[in-house]
Amino acid sequence: MKIKLLYIAVLSYFFLNTYSQNEQCGTMENVKLMLEKDPSLKLKIDKLENQTQVIIKKRGTGLSNYNPSKVVSNDKANKTQGVLSLCGYDNTLFTSISAPTTVGQKVSPSPNCTYGGEFVTVTNLVGGRTYRISLCGANNFDTQLTIYPQGGGSAAAYNDDWCGAQSEIYFTPIASGNYDLLVDEYGCINNNLCAVLEVELLNIPRPKITIPVVVHVIHYGEAIGTGRNISNAQILSQIAVLNADFRRLNSDIYSVPAAFRGTSVDPLIEFCLAQQDEFGNPTTGIKRYVSSTPQVTRNDMDLSIKPSTIWDRNKYLNLWTVDFGAPNASLLGYAQFPGDPYPGDTPFTDGVVIKYTAFGNTGNVAAPYDLGRTTTHEVGHWLDLKHIWGDDTDCSGSDLVSDTPNQEIASGGSPNFPFTDACAVNYPGIMFYNYMDYSNDETTSMFTYGQFARMDAALFGPRLSLQTSQGCSPSTIGIKEYYDNNVFSIYPNPTLGNITLKLNFKLQTDLIISVYSVLGEKVYESKQDLITDDNINIDLTGKSNGVYFVNISFNGKNAMKKVILNN
Ligand SMILES: [Zn+2]
Repeated sequence: MKIKLLYIAVLSYFFLNTYSQNEQCGTMENVKLMLEKDPSLKLKIDKLENQTQVIIKKRGTGLSNYNPSKVVSNDKANKTQGVLSLCGYDNTLFTSISAPTTVGQKVSPSPNCTYGGEFVTVTNLVGGRTYRISLCGANNFDTQLTIYPQGGGSAAAYNDDWCGAQSEIYFTPIASGNYDLLVDEYGCINNNLCAVLEVELLNIPRPKITIPVVVHVIHYGEAIGTGRNISNAQILSQIAVLNADFRRLNSDIYSVPAAFRGTSVDPLIEFCLAQQDEFGNPTTGIKRYVSSTPQVTRNDMDLSIKPSTIWDRNKYLNLWTVDFGAPNASLLGYAQFPGDPYPGDTPFTDGVVIKYTAFGNTGNVAAPYDLGRTTTHEVGHWLDLKHIWGDDTDCSGSDLVSDTPNQEIASGGSPNFPFTDACAVNYPGIMFYNYMDYSNDETTSMFTYGQFARMDAALFGPRLSLQTSQGCSPSTIGIKEYYDNNVFSIYPNPTLGNITLKLNFKLQTDLIISVYSVLGEKVYESKQDLITDDNINIDLTGKSNGVYFVNISFNGKNAMKKVILNN
């Protein structure tokens, strides 16, 4: 009944010529309402049906393929509708358009009316950029959008029913190139209903952000590499997994069906094991601690172990590996959200705790959580991502991200694709491939653009200071700049080689002046027994260009300044 009304409405749309074809979403809905108000109009249209059909056949492939039994309802309560598959590459070219090149720019075919069974080639899409590709039309016919590389091959993306009965994809191509946008209706079949296609450039990738990491290994006196005292190799493997997953460089992204892979994104986040600690001292980024008990609880961690071991959360991501004991024995890991939203969250509990057998993908790891994805999931929380099912057991909750399907409950194990539930009744169902679900490590393999945007909000919000952390830079071998700038000054800076050091106080004792390279090598030293002049010359002529540290020492005190030699 719903379909029949629509059919008439569309026929009237073309015949009456009252509404322009360029009108956007809602036009056909308006025609339908008009028809309902004026039954005599409906009668006229019924009589002219055949003639109207001829007009429609100017483009599109006609109504012969139309099969109402294939129509997939968008009614979430109706679980009896069949699951369809991805639409095949069997449409005909309508036209070509060039991809938008500036953020916010939108391009569409002209005239902007694409029928089921046609495709539009978009040229010069750039890999890593995110495009919003949408089909618009009345909300009571169903469109599908499938994206193929130009000429066919393996589909890159697919969507059906993302916004009402219409389709929309936040598409971040892995590879640059030309792509064919296939428009289908009513379940991958041709039809004569006109959909409005739009391609908008949403995002051009920003530079990557590298987050310094310190790993605190909590063990019970085992030798390094044994049991809880996991090896350096196991720790490095976790860093490598993070660097793959948060750059969409994980090879299993290609195992994700196009319907979801097409919305996957490179979050442009990398991780390094810290090279200098919060005081500038050199470090491996790995700290090992002997616990008083073999196993620890969340309370042990939050009340004692974290506060006594944490590094400045404004400069580092703190990761702890532990062996969880009762009542938390079943925990794989947990994280603190940005902004300390929950009771007990403090600056000294901020970070991620992971069961040692779920950390990394080599060493003492235990299947099915042996591929490092628990940490990827928890770091997702640490960057403000919610669980994909919205932490509810119906369809009311949300992960506050619009490009993940609504999902009823947490997934488990490794579901078979497509997997539908009460909240995502149609193909492709729920996105159990998402890192923020509870599927096994071998299954979770993607973030979406919406999740990227949420993580970015954290990285440019409460976690902004990480971007200026020096944690990933090599230490200057114990040298750190003394910030009391009033003690002395040096000029000119940058210098050609001859520096004047001016003391800003009257010195009563000996003064030692030392200059170090960034590698900690002492390149100059002088001792001043008797200061007769506040201005002291330091000659660095002949030294190689670069950054040096000028240290003065007196009465057991030190002060230091950075100088740049550039001759
Ligand atoms: Zn979680």
